[in-house]
Amino acid sequence: METRAYIGLGSNIGEKAQNLENARAEINQITGVKLDSVSSLYVTAPWGKTDQEDFVNQVARIITSLPAGELLHRLQEIEIKMGRQRKEKWGPRIIDLDILLYGEEVLNSEELKVPHPYMRERLFVLIPLQEIDAELVFPDDGAILEEVLSRAKARDGNEKIRRM
Ligand code: ATP
Ligand code: CA
Ligand code: CA
Repeated sequence: METRAYIGLGSNIGEKAQNLENARAEINQITGVKLDSVSSLYVTAPWGKTDQEDFVNQVARIITSLPAGELLHRLQEIEIKMGRQRKEKWGPRIIDLDILLYGEEVLNSEELKVPHPYMRERLFVLIPLQEIDAELVFPDDGAILEEVLSRAKARDGNEKIRRM
């Protein structure tokens, strides 16, 4: 079965845009994964731990025949292959690959939570996501992306993110 999934990409070390390009190429080479659509790149202020370099973020839509857990493992292999070192939560990283949504699935294990638990609060996820799929509806509670995004914008303003 083919599932449509969304991946959040982020980098705030080194050649950030190049890191995302390399990651996209690696993702497209995973057996059972086809890159379907990608957003623009966005420069964004760090989230959670703010004393670090700005990030470059992007969202990609994929079509995959892999189960969600396997997809996560393949993405983690790419992170390691690209030299991701510290596993510090919200710390600086060469590449961060999060599964944002995996079809209509709702998963809540420690290892894998989808929809991604913080995505509704993150403009750097919601804005590129809207670029790819303006009509998106969240599978867990039926929330409409457009509404979630306007709430996040009302909270955060626009200073923390700009299109590259
Ligand atoms: P955040 O998840 O808030 O964006 P982070 O990306 O900095 O933080 P990591 O250190 O990259 O967090 O990952 C910590 C753990 O999160 C991973 O070991 C992974 O098992 C788990 N995890 C849970 N849900 C997801 C998901 N949807 N996508 C990626 N990892 C997830
Ligand atoms: Ca993340
Ligand atoms: Ca992550």
